[in-house]
Amino acid sequence: MMRILFATSEVFPLVKTGGLADVSASLPEALCRAGHDCQIILPGYPRAMAVARENNATALACFRQGQYDVTLWKTTLPGTPVTLWLVDCPVLFDRHGDSPYQDEHGQDWWDNAHRFQLFARTCAMLALGQLNLSWQPDVVHCNDWQTGLVPVFLRENPDPPATVFTIHNLAYQGLFPHETFRALALPDSLWHFERLEFHGRLSFIKGGLVYADAVTTVSPTYAREIQTPVLGYGLDGLLRHRSDRLTGILNGIDARVWDPNQDTCLPHHYSAGELDGKARCRSALQAELGLNTGSAPLLGFVGRLVEQKGLDWLLEILPHLLKRGCQFALLGSGEARYQQPLQALARDWPGQLSLTLGYDEALAHRITAGADLFLMPSKFEPCGLNQMYSLRYGTLPVVHGVGGLNDTVFDPTEAPPGKANGFVFRKPGPAALLAVTERALATRQHPDSWRQLQKTGMQADYSWNGRAGDYLALYRTLMSDQ
Ligand code: ADP
Repeated sequence: MMRILFATSEVFPLVKTGGLADVSASLPEALCRAGHDCQIILPGYPRAMAVARENNATALACFRQGQYDVTLWKTTLPGTPVTLWLVDCPVLFDRHGDSPYQDEHGQDWWDNAHRFQLFARTCAMLALGQLNLSWQPDVVHCNDWQTGLVPVFLRENPDPPATVFTIHNLAYQGLFPHETFRALALPDSLWHFERLEFHGRLSFIKGGLVYADAVTTVSPTYAREIQTPVLGYGLDGLLRHRSDRLTGILNGIDARVWDPNQDTCLPHHYSAGELDGKARCRSALQAELGLNTGSAPLLGFVGRLVEQKGLDWLLEILPHLLKRGCQFALLGSGEARYQQPLQALARDWPGQLSLTLGYDEALAHRITAGADLFLMPSKFEPCGLNQMYSLRYGTLPVVHGVGGLNDTVFDPTEAPPGKANGFVFRKPGPAALLAVTERALATRQHPDSWRQLQKTGMQADYSWNGRAGDYLALYRTLMSDQ
C-alpha cells in the first residue's frame, strides 16, 4: 500500500472551475479503491470549511507561517471515504465568489502568489512530517501552477518524498513580477532561468517542471504537443530537456457520477442497449430550454467561454447551421467578447438557440444526455472530459483532433467500425469545423451507422479503472529510485 498526498487547488464538488476539480476527486478515489491511501490537500475556501464544520472536522495543527495563522483541518471529501486536509487561513482563503482565483470582476486576486505559496509551504510541511501528524506520504502528487512550489520546498530537505507534477493546462503558469519574488522572500538562488525565473518573471509552474521527480500531463498527444514551440509557451525547451521524465496519462472520468443509467440530474435513464430514455431526455431538454419540439438536430456545447475552446470558430459557423434548421443548447461562462455575440444570436433565433450563461452542473448533465452532437472545436485541449462524458451518454462528439481529443475520439473515415465513435476535424479553422459538422449531420440520416458509433462510445471504459494503474506504476518507479 502506498501513501499519496494529492495537492490541488480545486476538487469537485467543493470548488470547480474546470477539469482539474473532477480529476482531483475521481483519481484519489480510484487510488483508494485500488487499496492505496491517497489523501487530498486543498486550501480552506469557504465552501470547503462549511463542509468541514458540518462533518465536525478536527483541527490537527495550528501554526504560524510568516505573518499568517494557519490551521490544518482533517475531514473527508463529501460522498467518498477519501481523507481531505484543509489549509485554513481566513485572511487568504475565506473569499466568496465563483472562482477561487479571481474576484467578482474576473480579476486575479492581487495576492495569489502569497496564497499559493502558503498552501505549498503547508503541503511540504505535512509531507515532511513537520506538523507532528501521524501520517506522512511516500509520494506527493502536485497539480498545476498553484502547487508548483511544493517540489521546490520539499527539495530544501535532505530526504524528501518522491514528487509528481501534473500539467492540466500549460497555458496557466502562475507568472508574477520580480517584486513578488522578493515579497515572498524566496531564496535568491531560485532567481535563475534554470530554476524559477522565466523571462524576468517568477514562474510557479517552473517549480513543478524543474524540481519534480516526474512530470506528467493528461494525455499522450498533449505530452508531445507541449514539447513543440506552438503549445510549449516558451517552456518547450525545458520540457524537451525533461522528456525522459515526462509522460502523458489520459484522464479518467467518474463513471458513477457520469452514468446515463443512474445520473440523478436526468429526468430519464438509459443505456447502450436501451436508448428510449435518451430520446425522452432530448424532448425534456427542448422543453426546459424553450427549444422547438421535433426532430431537428440538437447540438450541445458546455464549457468555459475562452479562446482555447474555439468559440470564434463556433460563432462563425452557428449562423449557417441555424439557417439549415439545427438547434443549439449552449452552456458556459467566460469572456464578454464571446458572451455578447452568443446573446445576440439567442435573441435572433428563439426556439433554435438556447444560451445559458453561468455555471450549472446539473444542466451540463442534461445537455450531455439530450443533445445529438456535442461540439468541442478546441484550439488545444490537454485532455478534455466533456468528450468522454458525451461518448458515455451516446451523444456523438465533434472535435478538433488535438490533445486528449485526438486520443479519445475516432472518426469513421480514419478508424474501423468498432473503434470509430465520433467526428474529428484536423485543419484548424471554421471551414473544417463546418465541413465535419455537416458530415456528422449527414451520418444522422443513416440510423444504423449512427447507432454503431453511439454503441462504440457507450460501451468503452473511460473510467480510472485502467488508468489509475499508470499513476501507481509511476509512483512505484519513483519510490524504488529513491
Ligand atoms: P477545462 O478543464 O479546460 O475547463 P475539461 O473538459 O477538462 O475542460 O473540463 C471541464 C469540466 O467543467 C467539465 O466537467 C464540464 O462539464 C464542466 N463545465 C465547464 N463549464 C461549465 C458550466 N458553465 N456549467 C457546468 N459545467 C461546466
